[in-house]
Amino acid sequence: MLISSRVKNLHPYVPGEQPKDRDYIKLNANENPYPPSPEVSKALSSFIESSSEKLGLYPDPDSLELHAAIADMLNKTGGVLSRCSVSSDGSVCPAEEDKIPFTVTPDMIYSGNGSDEVLSFVFYAFFDSGKSFVMPEFTYSFYPVYAGFYNIPMDTVPLKEDWSLDVKEMLARSKKNKGGIIFANPNAPTGLSLTREEVRQMLLEADKDEIFIVDEAYVDFGGQSCIPLLSEFKNLVIVRTFSKSLCGAGQRLGYIVSSPELVNIVTTVKNSVNHFPIDVLAQVSGTAACRNPAYYVDCAKKVCSVRDDFYNFLLTKGFYAVESDTNFIFARHPKIGGADLYQAVKNDGILIRHFNTPGIEDFVRITVGTQKQMELLKESFNKITGGLK
Ligand SMILES: *Cc1c(COP(=O)(O)O)cnc(C)c1O
Repeated sequence: MLISSRVKNLHPYVPGEQPKDRDYIKLNANENPYPPSPEVSKALSSFIESSSEKLGLYPDPDSLELHAAIADMLNKTGGVLSRCSVSSDGSVCPAEEDKIPFTVTPDMIYSGNGSDEVLSFVFYAFFDSGKSFVMPEFTYSFYPVYAGFYNIPMDTVPLKEDWSLDVKEMLARSKKNKGGIIFANPNAPTGLSLTREEVRQMLLEADKDEIFIVDEAYVDFGGQSCIPLLSEFKNLVIVRTFSKSLCGAGQRLGYIVSSPELVNIVTTVKNSVNHFPIDVLAQVSGTAACRNPAYYVDCAKKVCSVRDDFYNFLLTKGFYAVESDTNFIFARHPKIGGADLYQAVKNDGILIRHFNTPGIEDFVRITVGTQKQMELLKESFNKITGGLK
């Protein structure tokens, strides 16, 4: 046999489309519509000009400078950019509710080639093939892909009527299975979040020796980070990414924040698969991004204000929309199906996301772009809903 039996059982993740046939406005992959900070471009240019010989050498396998910069950014921002204030000298300050009551140290950070890769190693490190882990029925659709890849059984818990997590049922099942928990907070594709206190209550009730993973890909747009809970819970792993709030989907950087012990476990997995997951350019650009949080605070605030404006627009057009703590909105119209809406908008040169998944097929997920992009989407929606009977 040419192909391993393992490969036949793979069900790869299908990302938001990236078509080349036309210049679409891309509101389908939750990318940030703003470019990285000018400091990132400067750092990259200066690296190419003065240190390009380093491209011929292996990068730092442990990304120590990057980890120090990530830890420093989290301490400065509290891990939620949209609520930070920025002084005239460019220094940032977290909102009172976001302040982390201890110092995040670099040994609490593990980073990898996008949080997708980080999640893959986290699954390998903490979930086991003999016990089902618990996750919500609708959440980041890469989790079931990893479960299949590593042959880990999963136990999916339906969302409640209002699309929020069924916390009670998730806890009950995880106590029975003893295989750990993962969910995104805020969740995708719904955009809803649990407060830090709600997650804390879950952690208090959950088994202390089962892993508890919170994916905070979207938390910078207004959720509450669970980083402050790390001093209380040794089984907590927080996953974060540069792809959404740090305008960096192309550089492929994600990380976890957890105890140094759990960080070491994931590092062991990494060193058994790929010693150098982060190339030297991503280390340079990621470090520069973390050193300029004020720029990204500004971007996150803009995204939130455009999002709230667009949410109100959807309501006036008769949509049902879930109130979002993220950079996307999950919505449906009573008179047009998700697939048809997606296609109609695509004909106008705009891509939004439709999931062909039973239970959410009436919905579309709309990434929040710039105000200008959203005005064009409004025009398209006006046209489409105006023609509905
Ligand atoms: C986008 C996203 C990721 C993946 O981020 P990358 O760092 O680009 O791999 C992980 N989790 C959730 C919930 C996401 O939405």
